[in-house]
Parts: sequence; C-alpha cells; structure tokens
Amino acid sequence: METCQKLMIRSFTFRMYPTSKQESLLRAMLADHRDLYNAALQERREACKRGKRVWFKDQDAQLTAIRENDPDQARWSYSAQEQTLRRLDKAFKAFFRRLRSGEKKVGYPRFKGPRQFTSVEHRNGDGAKWDSVPHPTQTRAKFQGVGHIKVKQHRPVTGRVKRMSARLEGRKWYVHLVVEQEQPTPLPKTGAMVGLDLATGPNGLAYTSLGERIDNPTFGAVAAAKIARAQQQVFRCRRGSRRRFKAWDKVSNLYRKARNQRHDYLHKTARRLVDAYDLIVVEDLRTADMTRRAAPRPDGNGGYLPNGGSAKTGLNRSIRDAGWSQFLDLICAKAESAGRDFIRVNPAYTSQTCSSCGHRERANRNGKAFLCVSCGHRDDADINAALNILRAGLVLQDAAQAAS
Ligand SMILES: [Zn+2]
Repeated sequence: METCQKLMIRSFTFRMYPTSKQESLLRAMLADHRDLYNAALQERREACKRGKRVWFKDQDAQLTAIRENDPDQARWSYSAQEQTLRRLDKAFKAFFRRLRSGEKKVGYPRFKGPRQFTSVEHRNGDGAKWDSVPHPTQTRAKFQGVGHIKVKQHRPVTGRVKRMSARLEGRKWYVHLVVEQEQPTPLPKTGAMVGLDLATGPNGLAYTSLGERIDNPTFGAVAAAKIARAQQQVFRCRRGSRRRFKAWDKVSNLYRKARNQRHDYLHKTARRLVDAYDLIVVEDLRTADMTRRAAPRPDGNGGYLPNGGSAKTGLNRSIRDAGWSQFLDLICAKAESAGRDFIRVNPAYTSQTCSSCGHRERANRNGKAFLCVSCGHRDDADINAALNILRAGLVLQDAAQAAS
C-alpha cells in the first residue's frame, strides 16, 4: 500500500513567566512591532489616496533600511518584523476580497492601539527558539532581544514547532506554538473486531472474545535466577567497597533489561492487535476497580467470612493494574494513529451475563467455566466476558455514530 504522509497542524499555548526586565522588553517588542504595523499601514493609505497600491514586497524591501536607521527596531528579529508586515498584507487582501464580493460594510484596515496589538509571531529557529535551554523540568522560550523566558509547560509538545508567538492577555504573558505533526496513516480495514477481558495472575494478561489467550510477560525463570544470584553477590561484598557498587550495578542492569523486554512485548502485542482489528473494546479500569471488589460474605454471627477480597488489594493489585493500564494506553495510542476504533466500557456484570441469551445471574459463572442457567450456553468464562465487553463497545459505537 502506498503511504502518504500528510501534515497536521496543531497548536499549543503555555503561560510564560518573564522576569521584570524581560517583561519590559516584551512590552517594548510589542510597541515597536505595532509602530511598524501602523507605519506600513500609513504608507499604504497614502498610496491609496494617490490611486496607487503598495505591495508586501515593496514594504519588505524597506525593512533593512528601517533597521539601519532605527536602533530600537534593529533589536528585534528581522523575520518576525516580516511576519508583522505580512499580517498587514493579509488584512488588506481580506479587505479587497470583501470589496470585490460586494459586501455592504467593508472596513478599511485600521491603525492599531496597544489593546488591539497584543502578539508578535516568530519563526522557530529564526530570532526565536522553543525549549532554548533544554532542561528536564524548566522549559524556556527564547525571543531575540528579550532572552530566555520561563514557560510553564503543562503538557508535552509533539511534532515540529514551526512558529511561536509571544502574546499578552490582560497582564499575563503566553507563548503560542504552531506545530506540524505527521498525520496518522489509517490502516486498511480488516472487518474484524475484538473484545478483551483482562485476566489475573497465572491466567495471563487478557483473553480475547475469539478465545486467544494473551500471556503476561513475566521475568523468565532464567532471568529471575540471574537476578537472585546477582543480589546474593551484593551481600557477599563488603559495605562501601568498589566490588559492592559493581554488584549493585549488575542487579540494576538485569532489572532494566527485564523491564525493557516486558515493554517490548507489550508494544508488539498492542501492535499485533491494532493491525488485526478495526475495533478493540476493553474494560475501563477506572470503573472496573469498583465492580471487581469482592462482595462481603456474612457468616451469620454478625461477622464476615473470607471472600477472597484480600488477595485483590494492596501492592499486588496496583502492580497488576499498572501493567494493564500501560498495555491499554499502548493499544489506545497505536489505534489512534492507525485510524482504528478503541473503546473503554464499564465491565459491570460482564462476567455474569450470558453472551448467548443475555441472562444475568451470578450462578452462571463457576470459576473458569460459564454455564448459563437459563439457556444452557457453555463457554470459557473469560471468553464469555470478552464477548460481552465487545457487545457493550458496539452499543457505544452505534450511539456515537447516531449522535454525530
Ligand atoms: Zn444463556
């Protein structure tokens, strides 16, 4: 299949926190760009009165001379000043277009006061730089003539930053980014869909509605033995010795390797599912947590019998849930970029409901086996649940399509 990578334009806005010196420079930048805009507008107006037209390229050609004669203007980015001239050009083009189309009230482009001129656009890498001083926790945006300004980056920026604007809203400063991203390439439809029932412990990671068992990646027996040996080695070495440090290194390297292998496995499994199915429906882990909790079993003397609930709580459960959510997030991301549908549903009663006749009763399920007390349908309990999850997803998909 031919793949054509189209570009998708997205934008991001983040708050900037300039120092007081940077803030006065930002205000000066806005003021000088506004002067340039208004001067260029003045020139066009006067030409208009004489029945002539001034074009962008005429004004652009004067920019070098303006910068040579005016040290204030020379402080700022040349290409940002071109952008400001282009902005005026756009206003004129829109004006003439409306005039030609015979609109009644067509306003001639106007001079801008400080309140109407609140942003200056730069090209990233040309008089401005996004993430100008790479640092793990503090992002900075650099504008020529102003410096590296602190940015509160509350979400990751994905793609290539093409343009960035400094903008004043009220008394707050923002940086607005225009980003190009590769458009997701939809995979060809397969006509197949699947539901996933998440499994626990030795049952693997999940079961599909088609009866496939997806294994849970665990440390292999060999890797586990290696880690145990490396850990023993640590305690054989004297505290604070070089050998002990080296032994610790070996342990953490082995753990890292196991973690990478697990991650790799989850990636490949998610890839395989997204390639194979147009629609993937899974349990919503947030609601699943509420429904999965074991029901209390009264013992008849005012107390409670063990209900297996304790095994589902604590660290063990959070580790298992972390593995699931990592897996589901991977499927979600891959489905999105492949144009596949991915739906999370509330899994309430999916394990007690008959996937054949819809009868819901707790007695339907007995451990690994499912036997419907109403219609006699027999199935693997996990596959039955996965089918119900798929069905719930189809209902949601229909509702979403009807609404759109
Ligand atoms: Zn049934």
